Amino acid sequence: MLDIASLSQLLNQPQKIVITTHHKPDGDAMGSSLGLYNYLIQQGHHAKVITPTDYPEFLNWMPGNEEVIIYTENTELSAQLVADADLVFCLDFNTLTRINALGELVRSSTAIKVMIDHHLEPEDFDDYRHWDIKACATAQLVYTFIVNELQRPDLISADVATCLYTGIMTDSASFRLPNTTAAVHRITADLIDAGAVNWRIHELVYNSSSEMRLRFLGHCLRNKLEVLYEYNTAIITITRQELKEFEVITGDTEGIVNYALSIAGIRLAALMVERADRVKLSLRSKGEFPANEICKKYFNGGGHRNAAGGHSELTLEQVTQQFKQLLPEYKTLLIQ
Ligand code: 5GP
Ligand code: MN
Repeated sequence: MLDIASLSQLLNQPQKIVITTHHKPDGDAMGSSLGLYNYLIQQGHHAKVITPTDYPEFLNWMPGNEEVIIYTENTELSAQLVADADLVFCLDFNTLTRINALGELVRSSTAIKVMIDHHLEPEDFDDYRHWDIKACATAQLVYTFIVNELQRPDLISADVATCLYTGIMTDSASFRLPNTTAAVHRITADLIDAGAVNWRIHELVYNSSSEMRLRFLGHCLRNKLEVLYEYNTAIITITRQELKEFEVITGDTEGIVNYALSIAGIRLAALMVERADRVKLSLRSKGEFPANEICKKYFNGGGHRNAAGGHSELTLEQVTQQFKQLLPEYKTLLIQ
């Protein structure tokens, strides 16, 4: 393990740096990665953000976005950059399997690996770790890494602040989740002082739906929502046929599960989507209910207590059945 003094010293010289984040990046994955990117390029580093896959259009406006490399669209260039890197920053994920084929490239690279993350049970592949499961977002940890560890609050530029604000806003569900502490609000206030235009960021992320996406949401709520009051659980399932019919693109299913959770008394909400090769599950819960435990135990996944995900190779119908059948095991937690 490297100490902060050595890492800080390394970063005083221009380095070749790759920043990577998890499969199907969300607002925190992109916000924390581009926040760090905008910080590093101010110091003359040769930095690149490489994402394992594409990401939603409502995130493609952040400063530095045009420089992002998507692995699946640029495999050779990505592999070359990882192989040549002096440092690789791994943001918002805890195991190398979360970055698909990039994972093995990162594992075998001789670069110094820095993990900045807030997920439980991190895999031991890094040389330096800035990790805290209590953080509401990895973007919050990028802020504390820059300000407290590297002691460069002067380098929180408007671009850095804009990206980090986006990460904190999206991962805290717009400052709603229990981990949105007073400290988070103080950081957020600093980011606004540094130039993040909060109302504009909300507008860009949340008010940029296509008409079709809204109609798709209507369809899910009108026709696909199943409420199991006996277990205070609500489920939405989406077939491949529906994805086609409503021309669903990356990001369009984001947030739908939260509507199911918004019903009074519901403690657990599940969204199951039949993707090309697997069924993807998104779980959200209220309070103490451990959504991540279900994902880890049954669906090859994990995440946070109130927001977790996973996948299954079974059919959509089988996964739905399996999910319903495991609810009795959690009944006491669900109905208390
Ligand atoms: P979402 O439902 O938005 O896809 O994911 C919610 C959270 O669950 C993510 O922030 C991530 O922490 C976790 N998550 C989602 N899918 C997976 C997965 O396949 N594996 C693991 N380990 N975590 C996941
Ligand atoms: Mn996150």
